[in-house]
Amino acid sequence: MRSDLLHYINGEWTESSGKDTIEVINPATEEVIGTISNGTKEDVDRAVKAARAAFPHFSQTSKSDRIDLLHRIAEEYEKRKDDFVEMITQELGAPVKMSNKVHYNMGLSHFKEAAKQLDTFEFTENRGSTLIRKESIGVSGLITPWNFPTNQTSTKLASAFAAGSPVVLKPSELTPYAAIILAEVFEAAGVPKGVFNLVNGSGETVGDAISSHPDIDFVSFTGSGAVGQKISENAAKTVKRVALELGGKSPLIVLDDYDVKKAAKIAVSNVLANSGQVCTAATRTLVSKAKHDEFVEAVKEVLPKFPVGDPRDENTFYGPLVAEKQYDRVQDYIKKGEEEGATLLAGGTGKPEGLEKGYYVKPTVFTNVNNDMVIAREEIFGPVMSIITYDDLEDAIRIANDTIYGLAGYVVGDDPKTVEYVASSIRAGRISINTPPADFSAPFGGYKQSGIGREWGDYGIEEYLEIKSVVGMSS
Ligand code: NAP
Ligand code: MG
Repeated sequence: MRSDLLHYINGEWTESSGKDTIEVINPATEEVIGTISNGTKEDVDRAVKAARAAFPHFSQTSKSDRIDLLHRIAEEYEKRKDDFVEMITQELGAPVKMSNKVHYNMGLSHFKEAAKQLDTFEFTENRGSTLIRKESIGVSGLITPWNFPTNQTSTKLASAFAAGSPVVLKPSELTPYAAIILAEVFEAAGVPKGVFNLVNGSGETVGDAISSHPDIDFVSFTGSGAVGQKISENAAKTVKRVALELGGKSPLIVLDDYDVKKAAKIAVSNVLANSGQVCTAATRTLVSKAKHDEFVEAVKEVLPKFPVGDPRDENTFYGPLVAEKQYDRVQDYIKKGEEEGATLLAGGTGKPEGLEKGYYVKPTVFTNVNNDMVIAREEIFGPVMSIITYDDLEDAIRIANDTIYGLAGYVVGDDPKTVEYVASSIRAGRISINTPPADFSAPFGGYKQSGIGREWGDYGIEEYLEIKSVVGMSS
């Protein structure tokens, strides 16, 4: 069992001012795998002081210094591949293959992408006699969730470092180990002291201290809407800028001209990936009335190709949910779907056969879902798909947009004109067409209640910058 009771503050592994600890659990075995410190307000204060002290120098480093730093981080990150993969499988329950191909890679890609973007990023612009400067925003507070332990942290950290902003990070208490390895990566890469500070602990204490700290200039948060609102309220008191990534209830529109089997495969794999714990998950599958029966048959056929199971088993597509609380929450939603009168096509409540230990949820598909049902309106964050039928294209777009969220949308179809029309009609920050290649330069963030701001690539870097006009500079 691991014991990682130290925070990383001012370039040193340092004890918490408190004695409280938090146990970290492997969701596949329900066993305790380690403990971390439940940090205090004083710990956050120390971390903010260190970041503030690092700010004058770090914010003035040259672009090439910061590109070098990001390259060194990527190199050191790659050396720790086995540790990341092992730890993400242990703390999140992600299948080894996914920990490697998805989690490890996404984390790495953000550092590489930030270095690439920085190369062509312009921090100054001349407009007549005015000089416009983009300057580091100051000290940033980063609060991250558990569903992508390396992606959610790395996208924020890569952008902050690229912009010259020192940070205080609080990762989720459920998955703190990936962040601890990341701290070791930064140490090995020579991140200047005070530029990166890690304070472990609960959202209620450490997260709250970050969002209300008067000496933090910007808070970037990913997680639930309820916590996002609290963070905004706290931040408002000292007029901090806030970026929020708050999840969604994203539609996947299956157009009639697309191969039904291919569409079913895309829809099912999207909903089950990472056990459905994905903010951009396409949890509302919109199919025309004409194609519904054929689509449902195709879904039943492809479901066994994406098996739930032990994360260590090579054939497993998705493992357990991250925690018992999330398991209970998802069970409640499945019950709710049945009560609301949706038709259970596959899965349902209870554990999958042979997986009684661990927080496993059956691959669950509802059809005859009405967009007014709770299962179509709220983020379930589990392997639960809702099939909703539409009359025609306009009806599909209306249903797709009938949500408080706007993080993502998906269109599967063959006719480029129709696809483009649907893509431009969905009110969401990221639309994916069929099976697109990954693009780490594509801005990521939500419309409506899915959030404020954009991460990834050059847009991500902009979040950590202030804009200054120097008027009359060359007059
Ligand atoms: P959450 O509570 O919003 O957690 C996200 C992060 O915020 C964690 O680091 C958490 O700390 C911290 N936090 C909690 N309360 C805080 C506060 N008062 N002030 C500052 N920070 C605080 O999410 P959750 O409870 O883990 O998951 C609940 C639901 O949120 C999920 O079912 C899902 O619907 C949604 N969610 C969305 C995303 C996304 O990618 N958008 C990610 C995760 C969850 P702790 O370590 O104490 O939890
Ligand atoms: Mg929480």
